[in-house]
Amino acid sequence: MTEKLPLIPYPSGAIAMLNGTYMHPSSLVVALDPVFDTEHVLHYVKEYLGVEAEKGERSPNLTIAKAIDLKDEEAYRLELQPCGCRIEAQDLKGIFYAVQTLRQLFLAYPHAIPCCRIQDAPALHWRAFMLDVARSFCPVEEIRRIIDILASCKINVLHLHVSDDQGWRIALDCFPNLGEEESGRYSKQEIRDLVAYAQDRQIMVVPEIDMPGHFTAALAAYPKLSCTGGPFTVPKGEGIFPDILCVGKDEALAFVKTVITEIASLFPAPYIHLGGDEIPLDRWVACPDCQKRKKALLLSDEKALLRWFCNEMTMHAASLGKQVILYNDYLDQDYNKNIITQVWNPLLDASLSEHPAIMSDYFHTYLDMDHTLLPLQVVYRYGKQLQTEKDANLFGAELMLWTEYICTRAERDLHLFPRLIAGAESFWTHQGQHDYRRFVDIFGRYGEQFLPPETHITPRKQWNSCFIISVLQRYKRRRRVKRNSKKAGIALS
Ligand SMILES: [Zn+2]
Repeated sequence: MTEKLPLIPYPSGAIAMLNGTYMHPSSLVVALDPVFDTEHVLHYVKEYLGVEAEKGERSPNLTIAKAIDLKDEEAYRLELQPCGCRIEAQDLKGIFYAVQTLRQLFLAYPHAIPCCRIQDAPALHWRAFMLDVARSFCPVEEIRRIIDILASCKINVLHLHVSDDQGWRIALDCFPNLGEEESGRYSKQEIRDLVAYAQDRQIMVVPEIDMPGHFTAALAAYPKLSCTGGPFTVPKGEGIFPDILCVGKDEALAFVKTVITEIASLFPAPYIHLGGDEIPLDRWVACPDCQKRKKALLLSDEKALLRWFCNEMTMHAASLGKQVILYNDYLDQDYNKNIITQVWNPLLDASLSEHPAIMSDYFHTYLDMDHTLLPLQVVYRYGKQLQTEKDANLFGAELMLWTEYICTRAERDLHLFPRLIAGAESFWTHQGQHDYRRFVDIFGRYGEQFLPPETHITPRKQWNSCFIISVLQRYKRRRRVKRNSKKAGIALS
């Protein structure tokens, strides 16, 4: 007997349907392998399955066993029999994901669940979502809600874009003028709490401080870090702005190193994103300090100066135990080999094969674009494309939400749902199990139940637009990316 179980993301491995049904228990007695942390596991069971649970060896109805044969720490096996439920995993992560799967079964079958055996493991190990909190501030409780949703669809990295031209969102001790209370800024304690909240849901938070471009908000607070001395005002709306960090001034270099140090201490993740995208270099050409630095280092041009700066910051981050991620705008083979590149601009020559790559192609993952530009099925296709290409340097994949024009929860939600969930399935589920129609069918029937109450979901008729309109829109968008790339001095292939 085969049945499509109502699960999103759909399991990567085999599903076997067994005889009988598993009745919802009113409480669970959990027999737990002593290698696992009891408190954590019981918390997961109570929180996500909504039942009372206690540890006990006598007649348990949930058994959690260590599976040494599972090499992947996120993998799990789940078996439902009339007499009880069994989870096998190698790590707490696997247990967490098994419980997420069980939660969806509990929601979809309110009384009796068909007995089954599920094997599951992710196809990609960096399954990320980028939230731009710089352009539009996102309140902490709202980020928590997003983290809950990410956890339920097995996304394991939250990339927080916390600084840009339009805003600086973390209050730091080292430079207290960064960001403004009135326009929205997180305290260090709020960040610590958020990181712990995410960690508890098996999500790593990776901060991004964009530099040396996309830096106007910092320059507005500390104008002497610029080439011209300012003054600057924090801009609104989208764009590439001319003023960037002056790398000719020692004070400016010391500033960013101090910022990196404090940010690194706040986020336990072994990664830090330093942006490195869309940097117009005109100010450096005209700046005596930058020119002096360039000559002293015997560098040929401003691109070489940028490379030197990025490599310096990479070494500083490495001294703090952090690996740097940079967007793929300028990266070439002379950049530090440990840099992970985030490939967003598909028009760029991808001759950066020596760096591990996080794929977040503009035309597949930018969820801030409306559905005519980025239809649901295009997002769903992306994970399969990446898995089929099997690039040896594939590090992972990421869904992106830039927020120049997305300010409210309703606007955010409508851009995210169901495309975020589709992307999550395409990253988690093995390509052999990808099935767009099944996804649409399951989301259509259970999506609302799986998401928190009052989540705004884009109506089904808008998920995929007319093909011709979509092609036209994408052509127009492509020209705009080209124009912007030229403006920022990025060589296109
Ligand atoms: Zn300068």
